[in-house]
Amino acid sequence: MLSEKLYKAINDQINAELWSAYLYLSMSMDCEAKGYKGIANWFFVQFQEEQDHARIFMNYLNSRDAKVELLPIAEVAVQWDSVLDMFKDTLAHEKKVTAMINNIAAIANEDRDYASINRITWFIDEQVEEEESARDMIAAFESVEGNKYGMYMLDKELAARVYTAPSPLAAE
Ligand code: MG
Repeated sequence: MLSEKLYKAINDQINAELWSAYLYLSMSMDCEAKGYKGIANWFFVQFQEEQDHARIFMNYLNSRDAKVELLPIAEVAVQWDSVLDMFKDTLAHEKKVTAMINNIAAIANEDRDYASINRITWFIDEQVEEEESARDMIAAFESVEGNKYGMYMLDKELAARVYTAPSPLAAE
């Protein structure tokens, strides 16, 4: 059985992942409105991945005989000054998520809950990738600041991103 503290941290994390999904959906819609279809696609894939993260945690609570209790999703920004600002916000947000994931790992460690440690390890690796990809995007968009052709080419490049189910769900 999960400890009350660990249960609460994971249940809260479901809300945080759904809020992340909502944030990236909002960025996607802001890109659509500004004519950046490729960047909108990139954020839409991110939106799908965040829903998967929530799903992985929901499946995990269910499998441990703990009830998922969905919480209200707070509002998100609807407009950004630039795409660069979106990716800066993305990095700042993912750093917060990393801290939350690390907190879950610390509680699972205190509890010697080895199944939870195993489950959270996937997320620890995932956060390294999330922060790295946000940093890469910041570097890419900084390099084309004020350059319309550069923006056009990056937008085209990001149109190629395709959604794939994460391994914990693909294995089901
Ligand atoms: Mg996530």
